Amino acid sequence: MRSSIHRPTRIIVNLESIRRNIRNLRDHVGSDPMVYAVVKANSYGHGSVRVAHAVQGLVDGFCVSNLDEALELRENNIFENILVLSGISPRDAKLALEENISLTIPSVEWLLQVIDENREEDLSGLKLHIKFDSGMGRIGVRCVEDINEIIEIIDKYNFTFDGIFTHFATADEASQTKFEQQEHAFKSALAGMERRPHFIHSTNSAASLWHPDTIEDIIRFGDAMYGLNPSCGNIELPFELEPALTLESELSHVKLLEEGETVGYGATYTTDSDIFVGTLPIGYADGWTRNMQGFDVLIDGKRMPIIGRVSMDQITIQLDQEYPLGTKVTLIGKNGNDVITVDDVANKRGTINYEVVCLLSDRIYRTYI
Ligand code: PLP
Repeated sequence: MRSSIHRPTRIIVNLESIRRNIRNLRDHVGSDPMVYAVVKANSYGHGSVRVAHAVQGLVDGFCVSNLDEALELRENNIFENILVLSGISPRDAKLALEENISLTIPSVEWLLQVIDENREEDLSGLKLHIKFDSGMGRIGVRCVEDINEIIEIIDKYNFTFDGIFTHFATADEASQTKFEQQEHAFKSALAGMERRPHFIHSTNSAASLWHPDTIEDIIRFGDAMYGLNPSCGNIELPFELEPALTLESELSHVKLLEEGETVGYGATYTTDSDIFVGTLPIGYADGWTRNMQGFDVLIDGKRMPIIGRVSMDQITIQLDQEYPLGTKVTLIGKNGNDVITVDDVANKRGTINYEVVCLLSDRIYRTYI
């Protein structure tokens, strides 16, 4: 699907903010670990190729969640290390090797299947990272015996033992208990490992912000790189992050509704006086979900409520006066002296900032400053 360039709804991504967030992270951690930019899910809605190009030279590699996301980077001249964080289809391992893409081993069975399904191929040099499940309960091996069995297979088939990693479930929470359990489980597994790979890593945004002492070889830097607080504001940031994403639109229609008229599907909103209303060309097909009804947008630094149901392609807002067509409206970002943050939107929806930005659909045109 091509994005709607002839519609005034747009995401503006400030690439310099993303770069500053990376530089500030490096200052914060003090030591000199590698930083991999997590650009999966279209860079959390920010646009993966543009973000990847913008941070080339500042980071040491990239993390994605599937092979196609990795291939898209390669097709766009991103030649740094790329790690696919989830298990891919074993039959596609050869393609990963050809493109010099590192893969995650989610289980011993997966690795055996890679070998079985590629019997006719030479996979020597295939770069592999073992995923250790220290307590997330998703993919990953759970005991040191499995790790060592995998290392033996890696050596037998001449694969490259590139890394071992784990992922924290609660690094963004104030309570340390689960985090420390996971850290302990990972350290014990590493202690029993027959030999060290090139890279050991466990640190996501939250761990890099609030547990910098636990950083090993690589930080996998996602949410905070985009200027978002991984705890969604529950824990104070150790340094300021600059949110990179602004979402704007324009009034595409303005009219006066008389008292007692209704707005939108289901006629759920009835005007209690004569009011000006405005229409914005954005709806749930853009990721501006139906539960945004009742939330605000900004015009000239003033809050205007979304009234009636959110439609697929349009929302209606109550205006405090008549405004000309084409008036700028901010849905996420600063407008005048007021600001609507991604966390504000997430709180309204009862979700997290990650989901809000990831849901902004490809239909929205993205522009970069
Ligand atoms: N590492 C893994 C394995 C992940 O799944 C993710 C994100 O989901 C990240 C790192 C990045 O996490 P964050 O965006 O919190 O930095």
